[in-house]
Amino acid sequence: MIVIIGAGLAGLSTAYHVAGVPYRLFEKEKEAGGLCRSYQMDGFTFDMTGHLLHFRQAEIRTLVESLLAGRLGKHIRRSFIYSHRTYTEYPFQVNTYGLPPEVVRECLLGFIATLTHPSAHSTKPEDRSFKAWILENLGEGMAKHFMVPFNEKLWQVSLDELTSDWVSWLVPKPDLKDVVNGALGIKDKAFGYNPSFLYPVQGGIGALPKAFLPAVGEITYGCELVEVDTGRRRATFQDGHREDYGTLISTIPIPELVRCCTDLPRAIREAAAALRCVSVYNVNLGVARERVSDKHWIYFPEPEYPFYRVGFPMNFSPSLGRPGCSSLYVEVSHQPTEVTAPAVLLRQIREGLERAGIFRTEDDIIVADVRDIRYAYVLYDKHRARVLPAILEELERRGIYSIGRYGRWEHTSMEDAIAQGKHLAEKLRAT
Ligand SMILES: Cc1cc2nc3c(=O)[nH]c(=O)nc-3n(C[C@H](O)[C@H](O)[C@H](O)COP(=O)(O)OP(=O)(O)OC[C@H]3O[C@@H](n4cnc5c(N)ncnc54)[C@H](O)[C@@H]3O)c2cc1C
Repeated sequence: MIVIIGAGLAGLSTAYHVAGVPYRLFEKEKEAGGLCRSYQMDGFTFDMTGHLLHFRQAEIRTLVESLLAGRLGKHIRRSFIYSHRTYTEYPFQVNTYGLPPEVVRECLLGFIATLTHPSAHSTKPEDRSFKAWILENLGEGMAKHFMVPFNEKLWQVSLDELTSDWVSWLVPKPDLKDVVNGALGIKDKAFGYNPSFLYPVQGGIGALPKAFLPAVGEITYGCELVEVDTGRRRATFQDGHREDYGTLISTIPIPELVRCCTDLPRAIREAAAALRCVSVYNVNLGVARERVSDKHWIYFPEPEYPFYRVGFPMNFSPSLGRPGCSSLYVEVSHQPTEVTAPAVLLRQIREGLERAGIFRTEDDIIVADVRDIRYAYVLYDKHRARVLPAILEELERRGIYSIGRYGRWEHTSMEDAIAQGKHLAEKLRAT
């Protein structure tokens, strides 16, 4: 018997693809979807911050397009950076046109210096810090005016503490021609990992996990895994229910899984407990004014704004809110141990949005909902690089596969979660 823990996209995809092999799927919440759930409040549909579909794997794109056939809208990205009281297009490195001339000059000269004085690149990516990667690849100007302040706001740690083994697909390294064109305002191609994206026309991103459900067997909801006896291969849930398994597929955060596995060696338990992540306050707002912004989302590197990103869901899908209104998701990073009262957070956010010219003083916020995403972004640091392979290996030796964004403790997308479930199911069906 296969036991699957967690009905987010990774768990749902596993169940969907494992068809024919007996399995049971347990989820601690009352519904499926994990981070890709959507919810309704006073005429607005909100996601757990922006969840946009972009694909690099044709097989997963085909699967999602068939699950949501006729129900996906395609959008050409309108994402911007707001700094120096100016909007410039994302990504920063090829769009400095419009910033104060001295800023553009620093960015250009810094980038040129990375080409004329390249570093030896002698270290492996997991040994080179993210800060060193930025300086080596983009130069001092781009580091100072966007990459370092933005990323330190997002990650909540010095970038010297992070490794650079995850950046290559997320942070594109441009050519000199593209950087110069970007400084002069010449546009001749699209950049970044998501120049266009897909998004459900109705129902928010929650439409995607829901689309898996008809082909997935029964899910046991409200059932939280609390203990695993890896020797006996027995999972115990909070309500006392026990389930024996041959193979356990866990999609819950790996530190939580390892905490449940009380018979693992102490070194593995300590290593998993020391994995680090950053949490995000997801603040969803409904405001009584149409089209407070014409953009999809905006990045905020400067410290005077408490948020690192703000998005406008009704610009992906007008059905997500009431006519004559706008909706926003506002993302504020924090250390998992740091707590800010919702009222304080909402005041700081309102002030920041007014300073940025997105809100007007007379704007009426008609809906405000604060949710804390405890595990939002995992930190790629030297500890992670050193211990993660050993933790995963030890679990697999005991018949436990840990998959998904937090199961593998990585910075990956919905597409990757679906792909991991599919590939593991195919492997198990073949054995
Ligand atoms: C702020 C933010 C923005 C993002 N934006 C995008 C985006 O634009 N595009 C994109 O592609 N991806 C985006 N992602 C990533 C995307 O959310 C994830 O890749 C994907 O949802 C991961 O799915 P999962 O199944 O691995 O994990 P999860 O969705 O976390 O699912 C795990 C499931 O396990 C359940 N669970 C946890 N503990 C237990 C337990 N003890 N017992 C039983 N069940 C348990 C949870 O309730 C949950 O349902 C974003 C992520 C964040 C944090």
